[in-house]
Amino acid sequence: MIIDGKREAEIIRSELKKEISDLKSKTNKTPILTVILIGEFAPSKIYVKNKERSALEVGINSRIIKYPENVSEKEVLIKIEELNKDKNVSGILVQLPLPKQIKKEKVINAIDPSKDVDGFHPINVGNLSSGYKSIVPCTPLGCLLLIKKVEKSLSGKHAVIIGRSNLNGKPMAQLLLQENCTVTIVHSKTKNLQHECLKADILVAAAGKPNLVRKDWVQDNAIVIDVGINKVGEKIVGDVNFDELKEKTKAITPVPGGVGPMTIACLLRNTLECFKAHQL
Ligand code: NAD
Repeated sequence: MIIDGKREAEIIRSELKKEISDLKSKTNKTPILTVILIGEFAPSKIYVKNKERSALEVGINSRIIKYPENVSEKEVLIKIEELNKDKNVSGILVQLPLPKQIKKEKVINAIDPSKDVDGFHPINVGNLSSGYKSIVPCTPLGCLLLIKKVEKSLSGKHAVIIGRSNLNGKPMAQLLLQENCTVTIVHSKTKNLQHECLKADILVAAAGKPNLVRKDWVQDNAIVIDVGINKVGEKIVGDVNFDELKEKTKAITPVPGGVGPMTIACLLRNTLECFKAHQL
């Protein structure tokens, strides 16, 4: 089975659209997602444009605040403080990566946790790892929703996650633990990666290394979720050799058209959750 992330994301977006429109008729209010974009990094500009377009499609107003590459950390922190206080702003997202004069940690910590649509604030990270209600990072949330489309109960499954980033690997592990999986995280210093991956009922690859996961790394009937987005020549590929694996897995996500669309859908979902927490 090839998991159609594009289709699943469309379903989420149409449900969000309806809920947002219903809320608007009741409250006369619309969620607002504010994105801070610093510098001219081309992929960031594309991501932000896509987020804005997708937000508008479901009825979320989007505001992009642009700064030049050399903006000071202080100026960005002052703006975040202003957005935190602005009752009309539902969600705040600072597009990463940041120029070197701005500390990612400081910026993330400055965002009001209840407006932190990326789920990166330590309060949200702590709540997630404690099993409390929290805003969950969009990509791992999207991965979980896709996995649960294939298998409703994940209890007792062995999940192996390649990558330990704050963005992907670590929150993915927390989400799968909450689903009662046995979780292994492997990373660039893991010895015998193939041996670990072969234990997986569920394999999530988030290393950013094209063609890392080959046919003989995965047991038959595993669910394989490919988070990687890698440019190889003119092509975008994942971390998994899709052609080799598609016949032997129970289910697999393609790249593009797998996790990517779910990430944006989950960002919109998080924005709506933040809006509801503030307005209702
Ligand atoms: P990162 O560089 O922060 O982390 C990569 C992780 O993979 C690290 O923990 C590292 O130890 C591990 N790793 C690297 N090489 C490895 C190897 N050879 N074997 C085992 N582990 C290895 O990256 P990230 O931000 O987590 O992103 C990972 C990938 O996911 C990238 O390709 C990125 O573009 C993609 N991504 C996709 C989406 C999406 O929506 N689909 C969202 C975010 C990131």
